[in-house]
Amino acid sequence: MKRKYMLSFSESTGDKPIIHDLIKRFDICINIIKAEMAPGLAGSMLAEFSAPEGDIAQALEFLAAQGVGTALVTDKIIFREERCVQCGSCALACFSKALTIGPPDWKLSFQRENCILCKLCLTACPQHLFTIAND
Ligand code: SF4
Ligand code: SF4
Repeated sequence: MKRKYMLSFSESTGDKPIIHDLIKRFDICINIIKAEMAPGLAGSMLAEFSAPEGDIAQALEFLAAQGVGTALVTDKIIFREERCVQCGSCALACFSKALTIGPPDWKLSFQRENCILCKLCLTACPQHLFTIAND
């Protein structure tokens, strides 16, 4: 199964190799989508965990024991594609390339697997076609 989590690190845990230890201890694949970390400062990381449910549960227990906070991310971007005027504004804002527009048809393409939930498209679209929804 795949699940996205927001991990919270304190000033004392941010510079420890906790993610490295996690991958070594458990049979789990971690895709780091976004991270705001700096030594000695509190930080956060958005990451997708891929593993059987039991392994993910163990990994979350391990993180808790290390003092890392975890929150399941169930938000997703909803796109009302039928009202799109293909202006390209959202694609310019979307630095993760979830939204792209270009040749040959110059039609907006949305690849949800690349979305990092930065929400920049919500304000970039003049038609207000993007919203956030909970699973
Ligand atoms: S939320 Fe961010 S990454 Fe996702 S589609 Fe919108 S701009 Fe792109
Ligand atoms: S900004 Fe809105 S109208 Fe323009 S291409 Fe993106 S979704 Fe379509």
